[in-house]
Amino acid sequence: MSNLKVAVQKSGRLSEDSLKLFKECGIKFNNGAKKLKAQSSNFPIEFLFLRDDDIPGYVEDGIADIGIVGQNVQDEYQKEVDVVKHLGFSKCRLSLAVPREVDYSGIQYFEGKNLATSYPTILKNYLKDQGVNAEVHMISGSVEIAPGIGLAEGICDIVSSGSTLLSNGLKEVETVMKSEAVMVAYKQMSDDKKALLDQLIFRINSVLEGKN
Ligand code: ATP
Ligand code: ZN
Repeated sequence: MSNLKVAVQKSGRLSEDSLKLFKECGIKFNNGAKKLKAQSSNFPIEFLFLRDDDIPGYVEDGIADIGIVGQNVQDEYQKEVDVVKHLGFSKCRLSLAVPREVDYSGIQYFEGKNLATSYPTILKNYLKDQGVNAEVHMISGSVEIAPGIGLAEGICDIVSSGSTLLSNGLKEVETVMKSEAVMVAYKQMSDDKKALLDQLIFRINSVLEGKN
């Protein structure tokens, strides 16, 4: 029988909880530190360890059958995949933040302003919904330093506790979206693989129910 190919983040905030979920489902595997692939010894699953940003694309193309990514990454890249399960970990939010000393009165504050973010698609859609015209500048990392170096008057970035914002002299003023890890699946999976995915989801549901 063919393997279900599962894309998980190689190293980052999704990795540990993603692998823990499979272990809690009773799926055994060895993932050495620098390995790019791992085969389960007791379930027809093969793991592919990738950058999280690449996962939706690999699943859209069917290189991987399923993958685990943040809802924020799925919404940003808008790849043609099915979101089959919300997983309840890696919870965070995408928020707008401004320098602490700004007298913030509401979303119209951003009219005509420059904003830096790694999530331009999500941010542009949000601003459009809110009826705000602002310049959105894409930067791929260290977004929170943008106001301090004069690149932007505000940022849109991932927040969990808010301590990174605070240490960069910023304050959170609007929530753009809430996110958690989701399982995405290839749209044209074979019936064999769909049956495997159903078995996996059945096990995941039992694990998640046990946590509630
Ligand atoms: P990669 O090198 O794989 O591209 P990355 O730097 O883009 O990694 P991480 O910081 O590991 O990504 O975050 C992965 C995902 O985890 C994010 O897209 C988001 O959904 C979630 N996440 C990010 N920061 C937090 C946080 N502080 N708390 C909880 N979840 C978070
Ligand atoms: Zn990433």
